[in-house]
Amino acid sequence: MGEYFNVAEVFGKYVFNDTVMQQRLPKKVYQRLKECIKSGADLDPDTADIIAHEMKEWAIDQGATHYTHWFQPLTGVTAEKHDSFISSPDERGKVLMSFSGKELIKGEPDASSFPSGGLRATFEARGYTAWDCTSFAFVRHDAAGATLCIPTAFCSYTGEALDQKTPLLRSMEAINQQSLRLLRLFGNTTSTKVSPSVGPEQEYFIIDQKKYRQRKDLIFTGRTLFGAMPPKGQELEDHYFGAIRPRIAAFMKDVNEELWKLGVPAKTQHNEVAPAQHELAPIFETCNIAVDHNQLIMEVLKKVANRHGLQCLLHEKPFARVNGSGKHNNWSLTTDDGVNLLEPGKTPHENVLFLLILTCIMKAVDRHADLLRESAADVGNDLRLGADEAPPAIISIFLGEQLEDVIAQLVSEGEATRSIEGSILDTGVKWLPEFEKDATDRNRTSPFAFTGNKFEFRMVGSKDSISEPNIVLNTIVAEAFSEACDELEQADDFEAAVQHLIKKQAIEHQRIIFSGNGYSDEWKEEAARRGLPNIASMVDAIPALASEKAVALFEKFHVFNRAELESRMEIQYETYSKEMNIEARTMIDIANRDIIPAMVHATKDLAESVSMIKDIPDCDCSVQTNLLRELCELLKDTKEALNRLEVAASHGADMTPGRDQAVFYRDVVKKAMYGLRLPVDQAELMIDKNTWPMPTYGDLIFEV
Ligand code: ADP
Ligand code: MG
Repeated sequence: MGEYFNVAEVFGKYVFNDTVMQQRLPKKVYQRLKECIKSGADLDPDTADIIAHEMKEWAIDQGATHYTHWFQPLTGVTAEKHDSFISSPDERGKVLMSFSGKELIKGEPDASSFPSGGLRATFEARGYTAWDCTSFAFVRHDAAGATLCIPTAFCSYTGEALDQKTPLLRSMEAINQQSLRLLRLFGNTTSTKVSPSVGPEQEYFIIDQKKYRQRKDLIFTGRTLFGAMPPKGQELEDHYFGAIRPRIAAFMKDVNEELWKLGVPAKTQHNEVAPAQHELAPIFETCNIAVDHNQLIMEVLKKVANRHGLQCLLHEKPFARVNGSGKHNNWSLTTDDGVNLLEPGKTPHENVLFLLILTCIMKAVDRHADLLRESAADVGNDLRLGADEAPPAIISIFLGEQLEDVIAQLVSEGEATRSIEGSILDTGVKWLPEFEKDATDRNRTSPFAFTGNKFEFRMVGSKDSISEPNIVLNTIVAEAFSEACDELEQADDFEAAVQHLIKKQAIEHQRIIFSGNGYSDEWKEEAARRGLPNIASMVDAIPALASEKAVALFEKFHVFNRAELESRMEIQYETYSKEMNIEARTMIDIANRDIIPAMVHATKDLAESVSMIKDIPDCDCSVQTNLLRELCELLKDTKEALNRLEVAASHGADMTPGRDQAVFYRDVVKKAMYGLRLPVDQAELMIDKNTWPMPTYGDLIFEV
C-alpha cells in the first residue's frame, strides 16, 4: 500500500522557513532579518544581498531554475512573472547563477494590464512588487520546472495599493496598534504584538475532467449555465461526511502531501453536503500567511486534480439547486505571547477584557455590516448568499446561549453576574465516555458566529481571496478598540468606566445579535424592523466601499485612501459586467451551436417517425405527434429567449463601464439568461440522452 510517508519529515520541505534560515544564514544576518520582521524596518542592502544569495543556493538545491515575485493583483488570483537565475554568459560562454538583494526585495513586473481602476494610466504604468518578509519564500514544482516564489505586495509608482496584500498588511498594523493600546490599559506590559489568526475552510467540487471538457459553460465561466436536476439531488444528505470514494481519496492524499511540502498545515478533509462537494481546512495561521496559503490551497487543488484526470471547481455555485461553496473565515486575535483575546474562559461574565472586546466587535459589525457584506461580494456569490444553504445576505451575529445570556444581563440588569455552565453529555449508553458539553450549541445559519474562541465569518465565497474580508474585519475592530481606548484613557475611575462602556456598547448594538433561523422569511422582516441592511446583490453592495463612513474609517487607519477605495469600486463594477457578459455570451454560443441543433435533430426524428407510421392502419402515432408538438413549442420558446438574450447582451456590452452597466447586467441580462435556461432545461428532460450535446448534472456530480 503506497510508499511510506513521514509527514513530520516532509513538512515545509520546499519552504525557506525559519529553520532553513537559521541553518543557512550567518548568525548576524539572521538576527538582523528577524529584527526587521519584528519592527517592520527596511533591510540594508548588504544584508539583503546575503539573504538573496543563500535563498538562491537553497532554491537551486531544490531544483529551482527561476524565481518569481508572487503577488495578488485585484483579479482574485495570484500573478507571477518568471526570471531565471542565469547571468549573461562570460567570454568562455559559461553562465553563473545569480540573485541579488535588490532582486529579492523589489521587482518591477510592468504588469500594466492588471485592473487598477484608474489608479494607473498605462502611460505611467510603473508598478512595483515588494518582498513581504513575514511570509516565507517557497519553491514550487510544476510543468515549468521548479520556481522560487517570493511573496510580495504590489504597489503603484506613487505607493497606492494595486493588490490585496498591501492593504491587508496595513490593516494588520492597525489592529496590532489598537489591541496593544487596549492591553496596556488592562495592565498587560509583556505582549509586544497582536495579530489576527485566520483559519479558512475551503469548499470545492470535484468532477471528472473528460466530462468537464465537454461543458463549455464550465470551461468559460466555472459554472453550469444549463442543466436540469437529476432524479436525485442532495435530499438524503448521504454525501455529507460520507465515506470518501477511492478516486477522491487518492486525490486528497496527493493534495495533502503537496501542501505539507509547501508548509501549508492542511488538517481536515471531508465530503460536503452536495454530491461531489468536499472541504479542506488548514490549521489557523497569522492572517497574511493564511491568505497566502489559501491561495496556494486553491492552486494545488486545481493542479493535483488535473493530474488525477479530475477537475476542481472553485466557483460559488457550479450547479443550480444543489448547495454552493463558500469559505468560512475563522478569525481571532492572538498576542505574541500566545494569548487568544477571544477566549472567554469558563466564566465570561467575570472576564472584563473579553466582554469589552466582545462588545467592541458587536459595535464594529453593527456599524459596518455593509462593508463586511461587500467584502464577501462577488459575481458567483450572488447566486449563493440569501439562498437556502448559505448565510443570508443580512449580517447578524450569533453568540450562543451563554454569551447571549451575559449580554442580556448587561442590557437588562446593567451588569453580568453569572454564566450558564456547560452540562455533562449523557448518551444513555454506559460504555460511551461522558464529557462536558460546550456551553453553547451551534447555529449553522448565521453569517457571523462565535464558535468558542473565534468568530466565523461564513459569507465569503469559495473562489474569492480571503484578503478583503480580513482587511475589513481587522480595520473595523481596530476602530472600535481605538474609540474604546480614547474613552478609557481619559477615565478617572477605570473600573467604573469599563463597566459603563461594556454596558453602553451592549445596549447600543444588541440589535445585531440574532440566534434564530437566518434562512427564514420572518428573519428578513425582523431584520428590517431592526434597521439592519439586507443587501441582496453585489451591485448593491459595492457602494459601501467608498461611502463617507468607509473613507473616514480606512483613511483614519491608513489602510486605504479615497482614491484607492474609489478605484476598487470601479474595478468591482467592471468585473461584474465583464463576468456577466462572458456568461451571457457563453449561453448564446451553446444555445446557437449545440442546443438548438440538438433540438432540431430531435424534432426531425420525431417527424420522421410520425410520417412513417401515420398511414399504417391501426397504428397510433399520437404519442410521437404530441411529443413533436411539445418539443417544437420548446424550440420556439428557446429561440425567442435566445433572441432576447442576444439583444440584451449586445446592449450591455455597448454601455460605458460603471455602475449603470452593472445594474443593467443584473436587472436585464441576468433575467434574459434565466429566460433562456428555462425551456432548455425542460427540453433536456425530453430528449434522448445520446442526442443531448453535453453531460448532464447526473453525469457530472454522481459519476466521479
Ligand atoms: P469548526 O468549524 O467545526 O469549529 P474547527 O474547530 O476544526 O471547525 O476549525 C475550523 C477552522 O478554524 C480551522 O481552520 C481551525 O484551524 C480554525 N481555528 C481554530 N481555532 C481558531 C482560532 N483561535 N482563530 C482562528 N481560527 C481558528
Ligand atoms: Mg466551521
